[in-house]
Amino acid sequence: MQSGLISNRSYLGRSCPACGTNNAGRSIMSTPPAESEPFETLRKYWYGFFKDKRFFAYDRCKTCGMLYCAQYFSEAQLTDLYASMPANMEEVSPGSLARTQAGYFDQLQRNAALRGQFLEIGPDTGLFAELCLRNGTFQKFWMFEPNAGAHAELRRRLSGADVEISTAHLDLSIVPEGAVTVAAMIHVLDHIVDPVQFLRELRPKMAPAGIILIVTHDESSLLARILRAKWPAYCLQHPHLFNPESIRRLLASGGFEVTSTVKSVNHFPLSFLAKQAALVLGARAEFPALARWEIPLRLGNFITVAKPQLSVSD
Ligand SMILES: [Zn+2]
Repeated sequence: MQSGLISNRSYLGRSCPACGTNNAGRSIMSTPPAESEPFETLRKYWYGFFKDKRFFAYDRCKTCGMLYCAQYFSEAQLTDLYASMPANMEEVSPGSLARTQAGYFDQLQRNAALRGQFLEIGPDTGLFAELCLRNGTFQKFWMFEPNAGAHAELRRRLSGADVEISTAHLDLSIVPEGAVTVAAMIHVLDHIVDPVQFLRELRPKMAPAGIILIVTHDESSLLARILRAKWPAYCLQHPHLFNPESIRRLLASGGFEVTSTVKSVNHFPLSFLAKQAALVLGARAEFPALARWEIPLRLGNFITVAKPQLSVSD
């Protein structure tokens, strides 16, 4: 056997990302599970939506209820995979994406004053940040977007504002302590391998009255229960998945207190949904005639709003 194959198969062993214990039972896995295959084989499954899918087995922590992969890609493997990542959900029309983001923004508006300093992790081309710019009076935008290909469009959307764009994803050292009034993470926290460590870095950057808005998949959703291993969020890009209770516990470990969780509405063209339905059934089909119809669905995502726990120093 070649030694390269052995090193390619060496994935990272993980304890529970929320509570740190190693007491978990198998919840769900693909057949075969990703950890039984070499890295080069998994590369082609990274983008998802294959008839046969691969993901690392998800275990349920018996201590805190968190759903997570006890084996996952190493940091070097992830850097390699994310470097060749295309834009998210490119089949979904810009209009659908904008309406979905508007729903997230509506939730932000209900919970936060739109002023001070706005920080977003993974803003992509800045759809959400632009809503915050147009509808608020933020004086500073901190954008952490590792995909440099999105920066030009991001800069254009936020033109006229005081913007700092960084390719760093998890290094917030350029942000002053106590500065951030609103932080947004839309489909980010279920990608970060050590979310508690990241939240502990974010916590001191928050103003005492600041809020964070997080959008994640909901592994306790009806859709997840119906589709089981075919639920699209079980995939190589998610080392763990949340439900409203497990995210509350994880945020508490990171220094934040949840103030609300609500199911979010996603807007999808019917053509996209029909194609996904066909894939779940094992067929490949296109439905261009349905593209102009769009429906709002609660597709197993939820929005969490949280505030920093007050510490003695506040
Ligand atoms: Zn746990």
